[in-house]
Amino acid sequence: MGLVVQKYGGSSVADAEGIKRVAKRIVEAKQNGNQVVAVVSAMGDTTDELIDLAEQVSPMPAGRELDMLLTAGERISMALLAMAIKKLGHEAQSFTGSQAGVITDSVHNKARIIDVTPGRIKTSVDEGNIAIVAGFQGVSQDTKDITTLGRGGSDTTAVALAAALDADVCEIYTDVDGVFTADPRVVTKARKIDWISFEDMLELAASGSKVLLHRCVEYARRYNIPIHVRSSFSGLQGTWVSSEPVVQKTQQQGEKQVEQALISGVAHDTSEAKVTVVGVPDKPGEAASIFRTIADAELNIDMIVQNVSAASTGLTDISFTLPKTDGRKAIDALEKNKAGIGFDSLRYDDQIGKISLVGAGMKTNPGVTADFFSALSDAGVNIELISTSEIRISVVTRADDVPEAVRAVHSAFGLDSDSDEAVVYGGTGR
Ligand code: ASP
Ligand code: MG
Repeated sequence: MGLVVQKYGGSSVADAEGIKRVAKRIVEAKQNGNQVVAVVSAMGDTTDELIDLAEQVSPMPAGRELDMLLTAGERISMALLAMAIKKLGHEAQSFTGSQAGVITDSVHNKARIIDVTPGRIKTSVDEGNIAIVAGFQGVSQDTKDITTLGRGGSDTTAVALAAALDADVCEIYTDVDGVFTADPRVVTKARKIDWISFEDMLELAASGSKVLLHRCVEYARRYNIPIHVRSSFSGLQGTWVSSEPVVQKTQQQGEKQVEQALISGVAHDTSEAKVTVVGVPDKPGEAASIFRTIADAELNIDMIVQNVSAASTGLTDISFTLPKTDGRKAIDALEKNKAGIGFDSLRYDDQIGKISLVGAGMKTNPGVTADFFSALSDAGVNIELISTSEIRISVVTRADDVPEAVRAVHSAFGLDSDSDEAVVYGGTGR
């Protein structure tokens, strides 16, 4: 008998019908002879609605109280799901994150899991129950206050529980059929990936692919927990994310070994902004003081580029990107330190987008970079910043150019599928 951890996202449990559909799926997994632990997100857009509500009461709600409020969303879905399962004649018990033993640090709204002690869950499934766990939440080890793990955190709950319970697989049910070679909302000819390595998946997640959170994949890689991303709306095989290629059973060929593709996919991200520090003296220590200022403000940056300095002035410009939501803080911190750093002015641009090509195969294929730039130039897309890793190339362009650029690169690398196979079953994308 195996132990399966399943996670159902908000769009899968958006209404009573959805909850009943999910309950049936969970019962099927149980009837197939597995012990089942199901992690749920809040119904539909509940989390967003609760945040809106909090902001109407107070523009800057206290982190502790906001967490208390938001965790209510997952409590609603877990209780309803347990009821729906009982209605189908099976035993189910729901548990909050705290009851499930999800122990975190005390950073409200983006807590990190530091330990999972799933004793109650273990006992519950050993007694024959289906255990339903509220995702996205835990309890602080120090303060004993309730915490949340940051938006989309239920995936991380599922993987962390799977690791602690030594599960055979962590199935992440969502509103698309798996991980695609590009966002199906932008590229209708995006293709479903059968298998992808943790490494490529991490790069895609870091580059803006939203299907799995970076933190969740990181956790899965650390504990070597295979993730199966699939739709709760269809019965199709989804995408396996694991360290080793999987063997899939296909109707035509019997068994086939899934191979690593040269290129895994194209990701895009329009959530970042670009800050340019204009007129920086070209001498040692300048970059250090700019980025020390940013680090002291506890802001994470993504790409950096420094221009060649003008010979006549000895001044240069340094640009970097960071999440738009941190833009204001970055500008304020740099302005405050203007005299210390010594620059002329700051420019802020939030109309940018990032396009990234990801694939371990590019390590050994020298033509990939050239083909990538050719595809962008054929599409008439101008490049503003470039950054690379061993298995990724990213460029920053105008935000308006992003959809066109993603489609162009996707086609150029032969990733287009013959049919429009990408179905988006639910979710408002909010
Ligand atoms: N309900 C939370 C959110 O919307 C957590 C999750 O969906 O994973 O961010
Ligand atoms: Mg959600």
